[in-house]
Amino acid sequence: MRLLSRRAVLSLLMAAVGAMGLISGAVSASSEASNTELATDGSIARFQVGNAEVIALSDGTFPIDLFSVLQGLSADQVQAYLDQTFEINPVETSITAFLVRMQGHLMLVDTGCGTFCGDVGGKLLRSLALTGYSPEDITDVLITHMHGDHEGGLALHGKRAFPNAVVYIHQADIGRFLNPDNLRDGVIRQLDWDRAQASVALYRAAGQLKTSSGPTQLLPGIKAIPMAGHTPGATFYQLHSAGEQLYLIGDMIHIRAVQLPAPEVTVGYDLNPSKARAERLKWFQTFAQEGALLAAPHMNFPGVGHLRVQDQGYRWIPAAYHNR
Ligand SMILES: [Zn+2]
Repeated sequence: MRLLSRRAVLSLLMAAVGAMGLISGAVSASSEASNTELATDGSIARFQVGNAEVIALSDGTFPIDLFSVLQGLSADQVQAYLDQTFEINPVETSITAFLVRMQGHLMLVDTGCGTFCGDVGGKLLRSLALTGYSPEDITDVLITHMHGDHEGGLALHGKRAFPNAVVYIHQADIGRFLNPDNLRDGVIRQLDWDRAQASVALYRAAGQLKTSSGPTQLLPGIKAIPMAGHTPGATFYQLHSAGEQLYLIGDMIHIRAVQLPAPEVTVGYDLNPSKARAERLKWFQTFAQEGALLAAPHMNFPGVGHLRVQDQGYRWIPAAYHNR
C-alpha cells in the first residue's frame, strides 16, 4: 500500500458552537502542533483526502483511569508516562467519529456513544447538525467494532438514528455480540447483549446490516481491513481517493500518553491483548514508514495526524489547522 498523503495538503474547517463562534482552518499534513488541548463545545473539523470530503465529528470526551486500564504497568510507571505528557489522571479522552462524502455516498465511520456511556458522549448528532447534513442523509455506517463508544450512536430513542443507512460490521463481532448462545453461556455480559440488541439489531431487523470477514472492498474507495484483538471483529478502514489515502484506525490506540512511547502496552478493553498488541505494532510500523495520514477516534480531537518513529515507540504529529 503506497501512500501519498504526506504530500497532500488538506483543508480543515473547525467549528465550535456557542461563544467561540465559527472557526475555520486548514490542515497541512506534515507540520507539527502543540499538545495544548482546546476547549470546544460540540465541534467538527473538515478536511480533504483526494476528492473525498472528510469531517471529524466530536461525540464528546470521557475520563479514562489509566491506573486501572493499562495492563502490566506499575503505578509508578504509569505516573512517569503522565508526567512526560503533562496529563493528569483520569485522562480526558476524545470520542470522535468521521463523516466521509465520496462517490455519491455519505458514510459515517463509527457513531459515538449515543446513550451507552452514561453522562458522557452522545454529542455526535449535534456535531453532525453543524455540517449541514442530516441523519437521513447518511447512506452507510462503517463500525470499527461493537463497543458502546462506537456503536451506541446507531440508535436514537429506540429507533435507527440513521434510517436510510446500510451498516457494515465484521462478521466476528456480529457472531460474538448477537449470538444468544454467547449470552446463555456467559461469554458476553447481559449489558453487551442489551446494547447490541438496542443498536445493531435494529438495522439487522430492517435488512440494513452487511457483514464482512477478510479484507474487503466495501464501497468504491473504501476497504475494510480486519485487526482482530481488541474485539474479534475489530476492523479499520482505508480510504483511497485520487491518489491520496486516509486510514481510519478505530481503537488501534486508546492511551496516547503510553501507547505511543510504548505501543506494546495493552488496555483492559482488549479482548485478546496479545493480538491487539501485534496488530498495533505491525500497523504503526507500516503507517510510520509510509507517512500515512491517520484518523483515530481516541486521540485528541480531531484525531487526525501522522506517526513518526521516536526511540522505542512513536510520536504523534497532529495535523495543524489554519484559521484565516
Ligand atoms: Zn473506543
